[in-house]
Amino acid sequence: MTCAEIQTRLTALYDGELEPEPARRLQAHLETCADCARIAGEIRALRAQAMAWNVADGTVWDAVQAKIEAEEVRTVLAELQRLRTEVRQLRAEVAALRDQQRQGFSEQGNRPSPLLPYAPNEKTTGTRLLM
Ligand SMILES: [Zn+2]
Repeated sequence: MTCAEIQTRLTALYDGELEPEPARRLQAHLETCADCARIAGEIRALRAQAMAWNVADGTVWDAVQAKIEAEEVRTVLAELQRLRTEVRQLRAEVAALRDQQRQGFSEQGNRPSPLLPYAPNEKTTGTRLLM
């Protein structure tokens, strides 16, 4: 086997995919060839790094996935918070408009904005418009 052939088989060697005899010949070559030994060392270092990517709770992908899901939950919660604030503001606006409406009735007997539902006032309209 040439050095080039050896080097193309190194990954298979470390993956345990080689038969015992070719694996033994590769190992023997690495002991005598500095070039191949250096490349084999690099491959082992890369594999070690890839292994280190495995985190306590499963694979890196699982960890990333969990992080993404947490991120999505945070986004949804933030949106809910925003909507809650908006609803509170709208309620305050409606309450303020109702107050204006009531004042309109009591102070001037005027009809409030026709866009707003308002309590019937038989004195001013003569008919029950609502309820
Ligand atoms: Zn070699």
